[in-house]
Amino acid sequence: MPEKVVIIGSGPAAWTAAIYAARANLDPLVFEGAISEDNRLKGTLPLGQLALTTDVENYPGFPKGIMGPELMELFREQAVRFDTRVETQDIVSLDLSQHPFQLVPGQGDSVESLSVIIATGARANYLGLESEEEFKNRGVSACAVCDGALPRFRDRPLVVVGGGDSAVEEASYLSKFASTVHLIHRRDALRASKIMQQRAFDNDKIDINWNSSVVEVLGDEQEGVTGIRLASTVDAADTRQLDVSGMFLAIGHTPNTDFLDGQLDLNDKGYICWTAKGRTDTSVEGVFSAGDVSDDYYRQAITASGTGCMSALDAERWLSDKGWV
Ligand code: NAP
Repeated sequence: MPEKVVIIGSGPAAWTAAIYAARANLDPLVFEGAISEDNRLKGTLPLGQLALTTDVENYPGFPKGIMGPELMELFREQAVRFDTRVETQDIVSLDLSQHPFQLVPGQGDSVESLSVIIATGARANYLGLESEEEFKNRGVSACAVCDGALPRFRDRPLVVVGGGDSAVEEASYLSKFASTVHLIHRRDALRASKIMQQRAFDNDKIDINWNSSVVEVLGDEQEGVTGIRLASTVDAADTRQLDVSGMFLAIGHTPNTDFLDGQLDLNDKGYICWTAKGRTDTSVEGVFSAGDVSDDYYRQAITASGTGCMSALDAERWLSDKGWV
């Protein structure tokens, strides 16, 4: 018997979809992702991006705030309480050209499902420098919360690249451990919200380097990262070196859609298109998407939860219209 609904992902969208699908008696099966080194390096471990953050102060219902990893455990617990089944596996490929849809996990047998909800989120971007690749895990990281407290970074000067809320958040967090945090931004104004900008300006340990970009990560085998070479974005000939022990990237995200292999319509930034206004339908009937994998605009836990709920209701109504539930 095929599954009624398989949910791929394990952030707020996926667990909310699971809670709604379970309560609608759809007996959902969630593929939450594998606990693997590859997923760790890419930032795509189970429980999603919120599990890589610290305080969440804007998720309604938690007036005193809550830690991101704890919030995600609560989401998961609530889904499991309603008998959601969870596989700690990636879906590595799928075939949406036949129905029931075929899904192939990293290990074990293929799964057939009448409907699919894709909620695989997005992952942090890197600059793409060869030297950056060389020092990943040895001073280069895209997750201050995961790695910032490591002894190698304590009381040392560090770098955060980016000018958005994430960059300021990471810089503020790292300033608790580092001697100085150099925030490197390619323009002369931050993209971060005003309140976050003020947080950066008020923090004596954060030194903002305007109109600058990292062109090389410096280091050696023994020490890992020892510095970076910066170039001015106004005058490329103007370069300088900063001695630092770590570089943290906070330059936006890429949606996790590789496993789809072109079977769903994506927008020009690579996010899954919603094909019906106000609905979570995708370009393949019976396949729905939710959360950051389809949202390059709001990208909040609460909006991901909202579309996760919508996707479960859309899947239920579609299955019901077909007479399958
Ligand atoms: P973002 O807002 O897209 O900012 C990305 C930053 O990285 C921008 O400043 C951008 O520069 C820079 N950048 C992008 N590509 C670059 C490259 N190749 N080289 C150098 N710099 C590069 O991403 P985000 O900060 O991750 O935030 C994403 C969303 O999450 C936003 O909606 C944000 O409000 C939200 N968020 C909220 C909080 C909070 O409220 N506590 C915390 C984190 C994130 P330009 O400015 O020049 O484009």
